[in-house]
Amino acid sequence: MKIAILREQAAGERRVSGTPETVKKFKALGAEVAVEAGAGLTASIADADYAAAGAAVGDRAATVAGADIILGVQGPAPDSITGAKPGAWIAAGLNPFGDRARVDAYAAAGFEALAMEFMPRITRAQSMDILSSQSNLSGYKAVLDAAYEYGRAFPMMMTAAGTVSAAKCFVMGVGVAGLQAIATARRLGAQVSATDVRAATKEQIESLGAKAIFVEKVAGIEGEGAGGYATEMSDEYKAAQAELVSSHIAKQDIVITTALIPGRAAPRLITDAQIASMKPGSVIVDLAVEQGGNVEGAVAGEVVERHGVKIVGHRNVPSRLAADTSALFARNLYNFLSAFWDKEKNAPVLDDEIGNAIRLTQGGKVVNERLLG
Ligand code: NAD
Repeated sequence: MKIAILREQAAGERRVSGTPETVKKFKALGAEVAVEAGAGLTASIADADYAAAGAAVGDRAATVAGADIILGVQGPAPDSITGAKPGAWIAAGLNPFGDRARVDAYAAAGFEALAMEFMPRITRAQSMDILSSQSNLSGYKAVLDAAYEYGRAFPMMMTAAGTVSAAKCFVMGVGVAGLQAIATARRLGAQVSATDVRAATKEQIESLGAKAIFVEKVAGIEGEGAGGYATEMSDEYKAAQAELVSSHIAKQDIVITTALIPGRAAPRLITDAQIASMKPGSVIVDLAVEQGGNVEGAVAGEVVERHGVKIVGHRNVPSRLAADTSALFARNLYNFLSAFWDKEKNAPVLDDEIGNAIRLTQGGKVVNERLLG
């Protein structure tokens, strides 16, 4: 059983899918591990550290040659892994809705592609969940990015020269990233408020010491769909939410948006008119910018200014904390493969619940129902 850890090729991707820690753990399971030279450099891991952990460090061709399982943060280009075993697994973040052509190419090449972002949100899979581990650090980093762009202090400061008032920070979308953003903004001393479409988040917001800003219930609307994710909201709900947000947002210094709906474009939460109502010097961070953006005018990969308000649209925010996010990503992959490790076969054997959820391709075909439906 050979596991390959590749150097990421996507522009701006600084993370790596394996660390010396997980190399050692895979070896302890009985696997052989190969690492592409330079794979960890942007996450502060030297080739020598992988070698010391027992990995064979070599070029891409040698790393992939005869591999049974290829690990990645993002999916490797299909033509760069042709030397792997027929039917080899690719376990990575595969962006199945955003990059369908690549999924089809994996199928055509006979790979079994496993999309780690399709991991079901069930208790036993929590330690395998890359969305949670990466979102958590994104939420933290979003607040630091806001603080960096903001020309004022976050905490209230009482000085001999007078008082500096606390920044008002509003978090929209209170999933994993939003909760961490609330906690981080609170630690920095901001006055924090937050909103979500899922009523269950009200208690979570308040338990972190922030103010919950909620639309009164509109008849027939629940907001929470399968697996605790948000569902698309009705026009009536969207109008009520926009009105509430409009009045609240005009008083904010910092807004962090994190709202996502799986498989769809991110919901638009902030319009240009709402941006114009904010004070000059305010900052908005749009964590959903790569999924279409929560904020009108946000540009992926740029910090733009509209009406004197900075709109931060960094791409791949987890990659901006590559050492920590890589360590967690690598553990997610190890936790996943080791949970299914069959000692006699010296290989992982997936069960149906998780296998059917994450398997995109098998036997030359696309098999995942979320892609077929
Ligand atoms: P996400 O990244 O899919 O979305 C971020 C947040 O945006 C969500 O809270 C969502 O409700 C919210 N949102 C969507 N549309 C919105 C709108 N129009 N206005 C305001 N907010 C909007 O969410 P996530 O971080 O992946 O978490 C989703 C849920 O899954 C949470 O309840 C989380 O605690 C839960 N979860 C469970 C597990 C597990 O049990 N294994 C693991 C991770 C997360």
